[in-house]
Amino acid sequence: MLDPDKAKKIILEHTSVQAPQDIDLEASLGLVVHEDIQATCAVPAFDNSAMDGYAVRQEDLENASTDTPVVLQKLDYIPAGSRQEQPLQYGQCFQIATGAEIPPGANAVVMKENVTVEGAKVWFSKPPKMQEHIRFKGEDIEEGAVIISRGETIGPGQISLLAAFGYAKVFVKSPPRITIITTGSELVDVGENLEPGKIRDSNSYMLAALLREENCFCDRIGIVKDDPELLLETLKACMDTDFVLISGGVSVGEHDFVKSTLKQLGVEEIFWKVRIKPGKPFFFGKNEKTLVFGMPGNPASSYVVFEEFVRPSIRKAMGQANLEKNLVTATLEKSITQRANRRHYLRAKLRKEENQYFVKPLPFQGSHSLRSLADANALIIVPENSEELPEGSLVSTRFLTPL
Ligand code: AMP
Ligand code: MG
Repeated sequence: MLDPDKAKKIILEHTSVQAPQDIDLEASLGLVVHEDIQATCAVPAFDNSAMDGYAVRQEDLENASTDTPVVLQKLDYIPAGSRQEQPLQYGQCFQIATGAEIPPGANAVVMKENVTVEGAKVWFSKPPKMQEHIRFKGEDIEEGAVIISRGETIGPGQISLLAAFGYAKVFVKSPPRITIITTGSELVDVGENLEPGKIRDSNSYMLAALLREENCFCDRIGIVKDDPELLLETLKACMDTDFVLISGGVSVGEHDFVKSTLKQLGVEEIFWKVRIKPGKPFFFGKNEKTLVFGMPGNPASSYVVFEEFVRPSIRKAMGQANLEKNLVTATLEKSITQRANRRHYLRAKLRKEENQYFVKPLPFQGSHSLRSLADANALIIVPENSEELPEGSLVSTRFLTPL
């Protein structure tokens, strides 16, 4: 049985970073940019108003006060998106919208709420500060500045930048193509009735959801029965994708045909069985560029294998620098009495109090437990052959969801 750290290292050595490609802006969330991206213009692109109000010459209002308000003559309204070329003269003001270009001659904006309007007369009872409520050209970003650096991951903020600078396509590491295959003659799909002896396939939906956390989409192939011929046909058809995630059929059961079928297809077995609990009969293989992960069918096994081995590989392929969800040291709030000669991943509840982490293993740790998967927000990682861990012990814990 392979050491889990070694297994992860081997997987990462076999994982290559995706080639770069131009991707539609809307499909770029979560992808990693392949080159520095520059501002194609200044932002703001022109001096504009930060408020709905009045564009004025500050010097006209220097003496304005509540007792002696100053009146200015209102010219046109300048809506956002239009340009007023007529310069502002002594004693005049333009009404102006937020985002509209400041007209020539104006050097401050007074908020609409702070004036009194009578027809074309506008009364001001306080002088504005010079340049008040004006957003200046280039004050946010100068033309030519690097707005996103190579290696950065695109989030909603980056999408906003890219859109603002006219990037309808972005040069990023291509999203990996991923297939999920779920095997088992006992499985029926979510919309189907349960006949005696059957269970619904939850793994393929769970794995697809775990991939969505990485902003990855997948081809979720339906259920394949434990039939070598069907399995061969199905697996053959997806060997051109970057990742193939197979649920079930990799253990030592009479009907576990995944490994033999993969062999028939020429998939090289890189390892089988890792010293972990749950998830021991985890298989990893490779066929040209396709990485094949055979994940034991028990839901918690598949989950743990994904978290510890598949996620890092996918993140590496996507060009991400941080390959794992965060690990923290937490204080045990309940002793761990189960001992395992394999590294044990316990589904757990993590909490933070006054900058300290506390964690409690969930009561039911069966690898078939769906309840504990839904309740867990962390995995406690217990080293192999560790002694019983009393309450108060410090344990390494992986975040599953941010606190
Ligand atoms: P296997 O790895 O195929 O030996 O399956 C181990 C256990 O996981 C069995 O109890 C299966 O019924 C269950 N199982 C397999 N595939 C799935 C699935 N897609 N969803 C939920 N449970 C599954
Ligand atoms: Mg099975």
